[in-house]
Amino acid sequence: MRPSPNPRDDSRRIDLHVHSTASDGTTSPAVVVGQAKDAQLDVMAITDHDTTAGWVPAAEAALAAGIGLVRGAEISATEEGMTVHLLAYLFDPTYEPLVAELAKVREDRVSRARRMVERIGADYAITWQDVLAHTSDGATVGRPHIADALVGLGIVPSRDVAFTSVLAGGSPYYVPHYSISGEHAVRLVREAGGVPVIAHPGASMRGKTLSDAGIARLVGAGVAGLEVYHRDHSAQERERLLALSATHDLIVTGSSDFHGTGKLNQLGENLTSPAMFERIVEQASGVEVL
Ligand code: AMP
Ligand code: ZN
Ligand code: FE
Ligand code: FE
Repeated sequence: MRPSPNPRDDSRRIDLHVHSTASDGTTSPAVVVGQAKDAQLDVMAITDHDTTAGWVPAAEAALAAGIGLVRGAEISATEEGMTVHLLAYLFDPTYEPLVAELAKVREDRVSRARRMVERIGADYAITWQDVLAHTSDGATVGRPHIADALVGLGIVPSRDVAFTSVLAGGSPYYVPHYSISGEHAVRLVREAGGVPVIAHPGASMRGKTLSDAGIARLVGAGVAGLEVYHRDHSAQERERLLALSATHDLIVTGSSDFHGTGKLNQLGENLTSPAMFERIVEQASGVEVL
């Protein structure tokens, strides 16, 4: 018998989706670990977009603070013509084929952001320098950094408004970036000893979501679980994902997707049960939980 996905078992408070300034969060890896400790988390995962740059400072802070750390990333991939986010846990950060793909995504994210800023700059007074001023050194560049520059310049009042106007997927200023297929990403994560979990697979408020067949295909490639408990999912979407998890015998996770002050999401607002967390750890062979 598999343990049931009981999100109410909060005997250990486990939050498996947290961003830092290594991507588009607003707090540094070390500070976010301290915030997780303050939020009474027992375990947190650092999952910056397409990078492991926050792993070392987060690890140092976690060891000092006495909080469990899962080293991970949120990989941008494409499946069924849409962007799919893949949470990858405990993978070997030196596995060259994965390292190379992540580097390629990060590089193209820079040229993509520059092109978006050029387009926006035709209508609004914004330059690439303004965006750089809102981006930490070496961070994975994303639309949130452009959003912060737009807010700083008084062009829009908030990140949220930026995302529903200038930066929206359907906006004339929008430019896509390079990403690998979901199936390829899943295989690379498994080859690196990591455990792949699809992030917010039912977040329809962000646009189109993966079909049941799309999820089944990624499961066939090696997906281990679904992030079911996420603030961007309606009750109906959770039900659908729980049913799919039962069908495919998947790990069910819950997480905050914390971005510091960049989003309303608060650390620990959704949790992963200890039993489900153990299933992730059992499947991992890349790096250890710290
Ligand atoms: P990008 O990956 O550069 O296309 O930007 C998408 C990222 O922006 C997502 O992964 C989220 O982290 C973030 N994001 C999406 N919508 C919002 C929003 N309304 N407010 C703040 N951040 C957002
Ligand atoms: Zn993000
Ligand atoms: Fe995401
Ligand atoms: Fe995220």
